[in-house]
Amino acid sequence: MSLCSYLSDKLDDEKVLEDLTSNVKQIQDHVLKEILTLNANTEYLRRFLHGSSDKDLFKKNVPVATYEDVKLFIERVANGESFDVISGKPITGFLLSSGTSGGKRKMFPHNNKYLENLRFIYYYRSLVISKHIDGLEHGKGMVFNFCTQEYTTPSGLPASSATTSFFKSCYFKNRSSHWHWSFTSPDEVILCSDNKQSLYCHLLCGIIQRDEVVKVGASFISILVRAIIFLENNWKEICTNIRFGRLSEWIIDISCRDSVSKILGKANPELADLVEKECNQKSWEGIIPRLWPKAKFIESIATGQMTQHIPTLEFYSNKLPLISSSYVSSETMFGINMNPLCKPQDVSYTFMPNLSYFEFLLVDASDEVEIVDLVDVKLGCYYEPLITNHSGLHRYKMGDILEVTGFYNSAPQFRFVRRGNLVLSVYLEITTDEDLLNAVTQAKMVLESSDLMLMEFTSYGDISTTPGHYVLYWELKGKYHNDSIEIDNKALVECCYVVEESLNNLYKEFRRDRSIGALEIRVVQQGTFDDLMEFFLTQGASSTQYKTPICIKSSEALTILERKVYARFSTDKSLSLKFSS
Ligand code: AMP
Repeated sequence: MSLCSYLSDKLDDEKVLEDLTSNVKQIQDHVLKEILTLNANTEYLRRFLHGSSDKDLFKKNVPVATYEDVKLFIERVANGESFDVISGKPITGFLLSSGTSGGKRKMFPHNNKYLENLRFIYYYRSLVISKHIDGLEHGKGMVFNFCTQEYTTPSGLPASSATTSFFKSCYFKNRSSHWHWSFTSPDEVILCSDNKQSLYCHLLCGIIQRDEVVKVGASFISILVRAIIFLENNWKEICTNIRFGRLSEWIIDISCRDSVSKILGKANPELADLVEKECNQKSWEGIIPRLWPKAKFIESIATGQMTQHIPTLEFYSNKLPLISSSYVSSETMFGINMNPLCKPQDVSYTFMPNLSYFEFLLVDASDEVEIVDLVDVKLGCYYEPLITNHSGLHRYKMGDILEVTGFYNSAPQFRFVRRGNLVLSVYLEITTDEDLLNAVTQAKMVLESSDLMLMEFTSYGDISTTPGHYVLYWELKGKYHNDSIEIDNKALVECCYVVEESLNNLYKEFRRDRSIGALEIRVVQQGTFDDLMEFFLTQGASSTQYKTPICIKSSEALTILERKVYARFSTDKSLSLKFSS
């Protein structure tokens, strides 16, 4: 593309963003009309709208829905019934979300509109970044993109993560004119189904082209931290590959091997020496700018549950600008960060009205249910978004909590506050209180067989270890002996296994590829949970309403627990994984 046409395209693009954010009401009304006209005769909507596409009727009759309300409809299509059970437009696949329902990953239908929206987000968020940072046109991005396992539903449709489905689609394959910069990794590395080979090759390609790298990225910062830790453990092998111009034998994915071998080229001892010198330094502080000296920023989501990983990333990046560029999910895309260079804690996302029809449920202490349109949200209020999309979700409750922080033209901007029911997360998994309670209940049955009872428990997501892992603090009591208890080591190790085995599939997938470490049960002395309660009472908790928190975040509370730990257990027994719709 010539510079002139690049610039004129850029001007048009900027106008697109200005138009979208200035005409929010009209565009939202149009999007709703389009969706209702398409879906009014689906089995799901017909019950409420009787074929009408009228907005007022929609607001009056269509109920707010949770996953449990739509699950059976989605499963029917996954099991082979016609798409028009839920969608007026053919369903081309399913997206597996990190959210879970009954221990299984939630599954959402999708079609090309979803992929178009994702392409829109990729395109415009990089446009916004290139407006704020100069000199990106000719550089490359070292971006840790991966494809995860793809399943096939009984109806023969693919089910995978949203990014996997995008990278395998023609929207990615034919992206040339829709992308602002190229990657250091060939597509074959992204498409490789083995994440370890893929990660190794991403790093190798990124190091070989280190002088061209202007951006380092990953969808979430936990992935980036994991990539750097992997490099810490594997840089010698990478240097050997570069020194001799020979790729490690264990890279056996043929397409990956062929494409990366071409980039590796001939032996390059100078580069190998240089990289070795940097990696050999005692501290890895600032390793990212040391290895990629022209990198101008990191693009990776660092809001919500990811904030916990910021200090580690900043250690490695020497505080290179960290850009959380978009807010996206398996249900829909939401918006873009229009002020990319702001501090991670100040990030807000401007909702784009063309992506879905958005409504907002006011999060309020009173029981009143107030639902407003995107244009009617109020500054400083907290809301949960409700999604009506092009592939079968209507007034779907997302579970995320957002705060309105401002407006870009007439488009509201939201700060991501928290994911509604999240309790534990050390990587990309979501463990809800229900998941954890269920898993501990299963383990209690193992304890039954010994002379032990679980009196109280709480949990903690420990990311000070690599990889991060779950810690459960357990207070035990003998069934028949009040004062002294004898710990049954075998039973407790089995409990660790049963808890992990009972957690959701995403947790188990990450355990299997070692992105999450072995869960630990730490047994504490009797009376510890009384001490914990005393502590929370001194912090203002009410004695009549006190409940042991299912997860502990306060460092003082953790110190109280840690002081009383007298036995620790974990297991490396492998966990089972299954997919069923
Ligand atoms: P998934 O459907 O697995 O892609 O997960 C989507 C969820 O990830 C959202 O509902 C949010 O809870 C979270 N998420 C996505 N983007 C962001 C973001 N920019 N900041 C914070 N959380 C996010």
